[in-house]
Amino acid sequence: MKELQDRIKKDGIVISEDILKVDSFVNHQVDPTLMQHVGAEFAEHFKDRGITKIATIESSGIPPALMTAQAMELPLIILKKQPSAVLNDHLYQTEVTSFTKETSYELTLSSKFISEKDHVLIIDDFLANGEAATGAIRLIRKAHATVAGIGVLIEKSFQPGHEKLTSQGFDVYALARIGHMEKDKITFID
Ligand code: 5GP
Repeated sequence: MKELQDRIKKDGIVISEDILKVDSFVNHQVDPTLMQHVGAEFAEHFKDRGITKIATIESSGIPPALMTAQAMELPLIILKKQPSAVLNDHLYQTEVTSFTKETSYELTLSSKFISEKDHVLIIDDFLANGEAATGAIRLIRKAHATVAGIGVLIEKSFQPGHEKLTSQGFDVYALARIGHMEKDKITFID
C-alpha cells in the first residue's frame, strides 16, 4: 500500500536494525484517515471469506483492527494482555513472548465473545517473529474457532514471522513489507 509506505518513509524512525518506531501515526498518535484506508484495504483483500469477527492484540493493533471491523461491518474482539495467568473458567489464555519488551504476558479472551462458529481475521500493527500472531491463533483455536487470515500493517520481512505463519498455510497480508532498514533508509519489497 503506497500511502502507508510513503508515510513510513516520511515519519517512521529506525531505532535499531530491527525496531521501527511509528508512534506519530500508528502507536501513540494515530492518523485516523490512514487507518480508514488501511481498514478498507484489509476489507477488500479478505472479503467473501465467511469472516465473522476481527481480532487484535491490545493495544497498538486496535486502530487498524477497528477500522477493518467497521469496513467489514463485523465486531472487533480485543485480546487482552495480562501479566500472569488468572484461573477462570470463562477465560481462554495463552502465554506470549513480547518482541519489543523481551518479556512474556498472558493473552486473554473471554468465552462470551467467541464460539466454534467463528471464523476470525487477526489484525496487528507489526509482524516480526510471529509470536503475537501465533499466540492469537492458539487462543482462537482454544475456543474451537477458526482463523481466516492475518493482516498486518508492517511486516519486517527479514524476521521469521512471515515464513512461520505462511508455512502453516495462513494467508498473511502485509500492507508494507520491509526488506531492510537502517538509519534514514528503509527498503520495501513487493
Ligand atoms: P512478533 O510477535 O511478530 O515478534 O512481534 C509483533 C508485536 O511486537 C507487534 O504486536 C508489535 O506491537 C511489536 N513489534 C514488533 N516489532 C516492532 C517494531 O519494529 N516496532 C514496534 N513499534 N513494535 C513492534
